[in-house]
Amino acid sequence: MMRLPLFEFRMPRTIDEAVLILDGEGPKAMPLAGGTDLLPNMKRRQQVPKTLMSLRYIEDLNRVRMEASASRLGACVTLADIAADPRFRNGLTALAQAASLVATPHIRNMATLGGNLCLDTRCNYYDQNYEWRKAIDFCLKKDGDTCWVAPGSLKCMAVSSTDTAPALIALGARVRLVSRLEEREVLLGELYNNDGLDYIKRKPNEILAEVLLDSLHGWKSTYWKLRRRGSFDFPVLSVAAAARFTESGVVEDARIVMGSAASRPLVALDAAKTLVGRPLNGESIAEAAVLAARIAKPLDNTDFDMSWRKRVTGEFVTCALRELRGDDVSGERLSYMRTHSH
Ligand SMILES: Cc1cc2nc3c(=O)[nH]c(=O)nc-3n(C[C@H](O)[C@H](O)[C@H](O)COP(=O)(O)OP(=O)(O)OC[C@H]3O[C@@H](n4cnc5c(N)ncnc54)[C@H](O)[C@@H]3O)c2cc1C
Ligand code: SF4
Repeated sequence: MMRLPLFEFRMPRTIDEAVLILDGEGPKAMPLAGGTDLLPNMKRRQQVPKTLMSLRYIEDLNRVRMEASASRLGACVTLADIAADPRFRNGLTALAQAASLVATPHIRNMATLGGNLCLDTRCNYYDQNYEWRKAIDFCLKKDGDTCWVAPGSLKCMAVSSTDTAPALIALGARVRLVSRLEEREVLLGELYNNDGLDYIKRKPNEILAEVLLDSLHGWKSTYWKLRRRGSFDFPVLSVAAAARFTESGVVEDARIVMGSAASRPLVALDAAKTLVGRPLNGESIAEAAVLAARIAKPLDNTDFDMSWRKRVTGEFVTCALRELRGDDVSGERLSYMRTHSH
């Protein structure tokens, strides 16, 4: 049985109290939200914080405020609540779908939005217990000096595996980061580095307090996820797409974001740009699919063959855009959600 290492536990009731604790304790303290990723990581000794600071009792972090012009989602809102709340539809559909596809119902009841956005990157050589990692002399990401995916590499290429980040980036979300001395808003698309080790620009003394969304009136969005089993598994590829249309069906604005195809969510700028000013027809969709797949660089460190994952990127972009124009693609979605033994 894997046991948790010893740690101190703090339970602040306000954001002010929490950031004071983080500031005082330094980088050896970590925020704990649902604990669905951090606690297993601690059992595997991938992270060994001296102090765990729970965010769950801070009321301000548990609020959802939705108005016509903007929405503010507290970092500790659970993924189950987002998936079940009918207000997360229409423009926000991609977020509800992404939240509903994370892990299992039990995990979604605990797992929070903030924890999902700050999720550690993943790799077959890293997501193992301590003894397994010790047997290969660890790796660059923790305790070692070799990357077993690319032994000549000085950079870790562990994979960004959060479901909600690609969806929220496609929706143009910003996040509010709070520390003892300052507060800043960052476009979610700019929160991540393409580096499996240093994957997030959140400073150790900052709390991700809120997700901010402008009105998505007139937008449609969707999220497609690839994993081996229809439940439980992390994404090994995902595509979030959002678009705003004129009354005659011409695309006014669009965003396409790919998850699990690098150490950060990848924004397919050229693919989205090619759609603007055109209807979603066979030609524009095919062009966008090729442009998006071109920048996806899946590596051989998660499930499934990497070249097949790259091919599916184009297929997912096609399905997502067809869905946005109103096609019934439930058959295709179902076929990808069934167990894959490719
Ligand atoms: C079996 C299994 C399957 C899973 N499948 C998926 C999946 O399909 N897709 C997916 O995306 N995830 C998956 N996960 C991972 C995890 O459950 C989710 O990502 C979850 O949303 C993490 O949220 P949490 O609140 O539990 O975060 P925690 O585990 O509490 O924290 C995760 C990280 O975020 C930091 N953190 C948390 N909240 C904040 C905050 N507000 N401000 C600053 N830092 C913060 C923590 O310090 C920690 O580093 C899975 C986990 C398991 C065990
Ligand atoms: S990509 Fe390399 S360094 Fe990063 S976790 Fe995997 S094996 Fe370790």
